[in-house]
Amino acid sequence: MRSCPYCGATLVFDRMEKIYNCGRCGAALSLQDLVEHREKAKAEKEKMMRERRKHEEYLEWWLSSKK
Ligand SMILES: [Zn+2]
Repeated sequence: MRSCPYCGATLVFDRMEKIYNCGRCGAALSLQDLVEHREKAKAEKEKMMRERRKHEEYLEWWLSSKK
């Protein structure tokens, strides 16, 4: 089951057009579009994790330097 990258609703596959339709926001996506969205979301998540880790390291340094 695939979900819409825009609103998260379940996508319905159109066998004739070979695209995924979203019943909620009306988005129409090809399989390639979905893969690209997934890759982008993954890259953004990884970036967020990196930033958070950097922040935590800084916080640790800040707390240890206060002693
Ligand atoms: Zn949608």
